[in-house]
Amino acid sequence: MSEPLRTRAAALDAADPLAKRRELFALDDGVVYLDGNSLGALPRHVPGRMADVITREWGELRIRSWDESGWWTAPERIGDRVAPLVGAAPGQVVVGDSTSVNVFKALVGAVRLVDDESRDEIVVDATTFPTDGYIAESAARLTGRRLVPVAPGEVAEAVGPRTAAALVNHVDYRTGRLHDLPGITAAVRAAGALAVWDLCHSAGALPVGLDAHGVDLAVGCTYKYLNGGPGSPAYLYVAARHQPRFDSPLPGWNSHADPFAMTPGYAAADGALRGRVGTPDILSMLALEAALDVWDGVAIEEVRAKSLALTDFFLECVRAYVPDGRLTSLTPAAHEERGSQVALACADAPAVMKVLIERGIVGDLRRPDVLRFGFTPLYVGFADTERAARVLAEVCAEADTGARSPR
Ligand SMILES: *Cc1c(COP(=O)(O)O)cnc(C)c1O
Repeated sequence: MSEPLRTRAAALDAADPLAKRRELFALDDGVVYLDGNSLGALPRHVPGRMADVITREWGELRIRSWDESGWWTAPERIGDRVAPLVGAAPGQVVVGDSTSVNVFKALVGAVRLVDDESRDEIVVDATTFPTDGYIAESAARLTGRRLVPVAPGEVAEAVGPRTAAALVNHVDYRTGRLHDLPGITAAVRAAGALAVWDLCHSAGALPVGLDAHGVDLAVGCTYKYLNGGPGSPAYLYVAARHQPRFDSPLPGWNSHADPFAMTPGYAAADGALRGRVGTPDILSMLALEAALDVWDGVAIEEVRAKSLALTDFFLECVRAYVPDGRLTSLTPAAHEERGSQVALACADAPAVMKVLIERGIVGDLRRPDVLRFGFTPLYVGFADTERAARVLAEVCAEADTGARSPR
């Protein structure tokens, strides 16, 4: 029964212009890695680069590396490497700190940019990754605003004369639903508020178009689709038009106009580096910089086309192999509403994922009942996708017949 799909997979892999990129990553053929939306795979050349950073730049040059190895300017230099992937012109993205910290800077910064007491509400994506909600609540409290949680589809209607800013996720981390960034941004701005986007699950998987769609501020992490490594620094985008008035709530010395003057008074630097705080985590940052080489010569539109083809093909294989009703897809069928992952719900999801991982199909679980499969077009292929669906079907069937009893 799986013959025709296997044949199709082989043909799709043979015609895939991105197929060769897989060789750039440290992956073994025994495993289908569908968790790159949580921790991207390691690009093979990163360990060699890190050995040089540690032994030569740190070990031999020591403090000279802040200048001679370009450590000091790494946050804005690497920001400019991330920028084209999210549709930003140079000079608007700075890398550093975690996504959580950048959500704080962006949201408090947005309220300060709006600078209007009568705008006393912050609209926040009620379905968001929890950290964004926690930080938004604190940002609201600190700025004397009220938090208004609404579903992303309702943001456009929820914003009005009382809104200072809206914080929305581009792709829902749980279901993989892609939200309408151009439409929501336009509605937020038409209401006189600022649009702040979290790109954690979209950057590196699909075109974002920050400049083209007039986004005000944005944040995202680099360890998912951007393969920067565990805990690699996040980034902050501040649109050029807002930079002169962007007033960071964390004005550390690294964002000072003349940091080495060591003056007691703060004077913000110009440009994106206004989003910096303290001394950057150079080792993680330089691992990210090296990891970004895998994007050289890749068009994000090409990545998007393959991502949609992979998720379509996975859903088709699942429909062919798994009996109807066994799994419920939470992933939107429409391409305009789909990110780069497939989320399938079933009551015994924890047990199913455990066995899947044992058999080399590495997805993850979002409790209580969601199986999550991330499709990273630079290193996941169509044969991998067919195999993942086939093993998933076997595991479900065994659970049902009690060959193993996960329940
Ligand atoms: C992964 C993710 C984060 C992670 O935040 P950290 O501060 O890096 O731990 C935040 N928000 C969203 C939407 C995410 O998907």
